[in-house]
Amino acid sequence: MKIDDLSDYLNQLLQAERFNDYCPNGLQVGGKREINKIVTGVTASMDLLQAALQANADAVLVHHGYFWRNEALPITGIKKRRLQFLLQHEINLFAFHLPLDAHPELGNNVMLAKQLGLSVTGWVEMLAMIELDSPQSLKSFATVIEEKLKRKPLVIGDLTKPIKHIALCTGAAQGYIEQAAAANVDVYISGEISEQTVHVARESGMAYIAAGHHATERYGIQALGEHLAQKFGLQHEFIDCDNPV
Ligand SMILES: [Zn+2]
Repeated sequence: MKIDDLSDYLNQLLQAERFNDYCPNGLQVGGKREINKIVTGVTASMDLLQAALQANADAVLVHHGYFWRNEALPITGIKKRRLQFLLQHEINLFAFHLPLDAHPELGNNVMLAKQLGLSVTGWVEMLAMIELDSPQSLKSFATVIEEKLKRKPLVIGDLTKPIKHIALCTGAAQGYIEQAAAANVDVYISGEISEQTVHVARESGMAYIAAGHHATERYGIQALGEHLAQKFGLQHEFIDCDNPV
C-alpha cells in the first residue's frame, strides 16, 4: 500500500490529533512510497532500526519515537546516527505515544490487561480499572504477572493482602499513584517506580506493582501491527529488543 494511505489510516484509527502529547504522533521520518512489510517495536532504538533493516521493513512503527518536547534540537550524536540510518535506507518511522496508550481496542492498557488474562471494566482518566471475579492474594497476583510478562515485578505491599480492585496504566505512569489510591483500588500496576512511589503506596495502604516500562508496553504496538496486517495484507513482524527497565 502507499505510505500516504497508511499514514491517513493510522492517524484516523488512533485519533492522533485529539492528544496534546510530548512528541509528534504519526509519521515522524518519511521513507519509501510503497509499503509491503512493517516492523513494530517498543522504542526506535538503533538496535530496532538495524533489526528492521535485516527484516526488510519498509516502515517501523513504535510507541517511543523521536522529537520529544524539551529535547535538544541539533541533529548530532545518537540522534544524527538514527536519522541518518532511517533516511539512508528509506525506512519510514511512525510513532504513536499517548494515542496508543489510550486506544480502547489496540491500546497498551487494554492489551496489557488482556495479556494478564483480565478485562478492563472502566476508566478513571488514563487509568484502566479492573475487577477480579474473586479476590486473590497480592503474592499470587504478582506470580501471574511474572509468568505472563516473563519478568519479575517489583511489588510494594503486604503479600498476603487480598486483591480484587485493580488500576493499571503502562509505562512511566507511577505519578498517577495518588489518583489510583483515590479510586479505592487494592493495587495499582504501572511500569516504572520512583523513590516516592514506595512511600505513597505504604501510606495509602494500596499495593503497588512496577511490572516494567518496556514489559508493560510491548502489547499495544504488536496489536496495531497485527491489525494492519489483517486489514491491508501487509507483512508484519514484532521485534522485541530487550530492556530490563
Ligand atoms: Zn512509555
